[in-house]
Amino acid sequence: MGLCSRYAPACSSWTLTLVLTGLFYGFPCLYLAQTHSMSAHIIYDGILFFFVIANFTVATVIDPGRYPRASDDEAVDDQRSPLHQNININGVTVRMKWCTTCMFYRPPRCSHCSICNYCVDTFDHHCPWVNNCIGSRNYKYFFTYLVSLTAHMLSVLAFCIFSLHLMKMEGESFLQYTPIITICVAVLDSLLMVPVTALLGFHIFLISKGRTTNEQVTGKFKGGHNPFTKGCIRNWAYLCFGSRLPKLVGRKPKKDLLKKVKMVKAAPDKVHVYVDNSSTNGNTSGRAHLYTKV
Ligand SMILES: [Zn+2]
Ligand SMILES: [Zn+2]
Repeated sequence: MGLCSRYAPACSSWTLTLVLTGLFYGFPCLYLAQTHSMSAHIIYDGILFFFVIANFTVATVIDPGRYPRASDDEAVDDQRSPLHQNININGVTVRMKWCTTCMFYRPPRCSHCSICNYCVDTFDHHCPWVNNCIGSRNYKYFFTYLVSLTAHMLSVLAFCIFSLHLMKMEGESFLQYTPIITICVAVLDSLLMVPVTALLGFHIFLISKGRTTNEQVTGKFKGGHNPFTKGCIRNWAYLCFGSRLPKLVGRKPKKDLLKKVKMVKAAPDKVHVYVDNSSTNGNTSGRAHLYTKV
């Protein structure tokens, strides 16, 4: 992918956000402030807009949960190695694929992003508008961005309609800059709000079900049980209050980190790893399906 096509969606989303909000503050907001001494709405929407920009920036620049590639001495390309390994989590078989680029078995929910060219923990999707992968470390900021953006767009539309109503009541001509730009902002805002609200609704559904976009679109849980959901309420609690995972690349672990980590031994009947030879001997019959309850 060329640099231009990679950065174009992110540049257009930044431009649209800043230009539309700038026009909103410069015309309908200014009209309400000057003619009706209304400034509370500017403070209210200013706070919303701050959250939009803050979450957009964090979702863009933060490491989404990138896994480091195997180093040269670790990367043993053994042709006899199976392409998959299966792990059993709470009675559900989850297949771990061998990543030929990063040279390791991808942990459950991890996927390789073809645009960023690295494996991402709890990969949701690659968002061209944010120009970053959405994974375990930035999903919360991406979701908060969607929530604050929807609230900001609703607020812009409501104040545009309200100021147009006041202009009409006061008999002002609509052939002036302020009403024309207010109508343009309201129309563009309404059009853009449709996909943003739909995307927010889709992610509310995914969080409630404990799924990622990648799992949903690839139909991983069709007719099976999702081993990663904690239940609707706990999924939301984890999103809101769960701590962010540490960075996996570009940072050396502290020497005394292991001393602080409380090692928890998994019960042997809960989790076990075994080799899946189905891909090497060509016989797939009778094998457990991916993410299907066994
Ligand atoms: Zn990879
Ligand atoms: Zn990516």
